[in-house]
Amino acid sequence: MEADVPGPSAFPGPSERAVCGRRGFLLAGLLGLAGCRQSSRDGSAPATATVGRAEAEALLEARSRAVLEHDAERFLATVHPDEPGFRARQEELFTALARLPFDGWRESVEKIEGSLATLRLAYRYRGFDTSDVVHTTYLELGRAGGRTLITGDGGDLRDAPEIWADPDVEAVRGRSGLAVGTGPLKQVADQLDRSVPAVSAVVGTGWARRAVALVPGDADRAEELAGGQPLDGIVAVATATRNADGSPGQARILVSPESWPKLSPVGRRVVLTHELTHVAMESAGDDRTPLWLVEGFADHVAYLDTGTPVVSAARELAAEVRRGELPARLPSREDFATGSPRLSQAYQEAWLACRMIAEEYGEDRLLRLYREAGAGSERDALREVLGTADLTGAWREYLRRELG
Ligand SMILES: [Zn+2]
Repeated sequence: MEADVPGPSAFPGPSERAVCGRRGFLLAGLLGLAGCRQSSRDGSAPATATVGRAEAEALLEARSRAVLEHDAERFLATVHPDEPGFRARQEELFTALARLPFDGWRESVEKIEGSLATLRLAYRYRGFDTSDVVHTTYLELGRAGGRTLITGDGGDLRDAPEIWADPDVEAVRGRSGLAVGTGPLKQVADQLDRSVPAVSAVVGTGWARRAVALVPGDADRAEELAGGQPLDGIVAVATATRNADGSPGQARILVSPESWPKLSPVGRRVVLTHELTHVAMESAGDDRTPLWLVEGFADHVAYLDTGTPVVSAARELAAEVRRGELPARLPSREDFATGSPRLSQAYQEAWLACRMIAEEYGEDRLLRLYREAGAGSERDALREVLGTADLTGAWREYLRRELG
């Protein structure tokens, strides 16, 4: 038997559990951070471009085609030969990009000020992204021998962080999962393959049924990809890139390189199934559905059929209940905030509320409640779907029964 028999170490501990924080738009939020260097011009006169836009566009088109066709020579032919340090970094970048399964990768000119080109990078992963992921990037352009060439990066103007900034990046593709990074890619891709059917069994098949996971190799890269916030014990977080019009774009699951290896196989299953449920329910960018439903539903799906005893998965809450301390109300949005003193208990309370609804009313009604509470008010949804305006009494009784 593999280690799928649950034991005490099989469950995420308080600091390792599937806390996800629902930090929607994290990656996309970085778009706005990138433009902090002031132009050297005072803005009173239009910038005089030393490089023509048409030339720059042609250069970028050749460079983008070289990426898609894995043509290193043509890629490096766009870089100035007298910039050896920059050229070496571009060679590394090309090697990294060549390992990733792009369906599209295209840089184009947003604007040119002097020698600085502000670019729009649009890319998508083959078989996974259904629309372009768009970032702002920067390059310095110059002329040599009558030609326009790339002479450097944006200096202080940093490109939006991407996983391929790590030169050792690789991709592992499963049936339903694409894992990109330098961490345990195969393990993550395999688990995504197993978790997708588990999510579909509850929420149905009306979602993409695939996901891209970013698996960086160290905490610094993870923090950068998380928008500059340390993951601090969070194992994984579901995010969404942002489309040009501000709407949520492609789903990404960011996996913490520090917390992931501490999990047992069951713990890893629970964490990724939880995050995939968020992907399926489009939680990143959903500010309307009550958090106890969002997080409780994700844990409900994640723990189904794991054989995990309730008192093990909810041990902090169980300890309180055994002491006679029953929570007075369902957890609020604040209870799920990072640093909340009863964060673990908030997840456990939410999970058991959803588990109770599934047991007493059925999975279908739990799913309907989720959708209706996101479209209107929680109270109306409870009354409409479950025929009660308040679950508190029944839920507290359920906690006493399951954990007491
Ligand atoms: Zn979550």
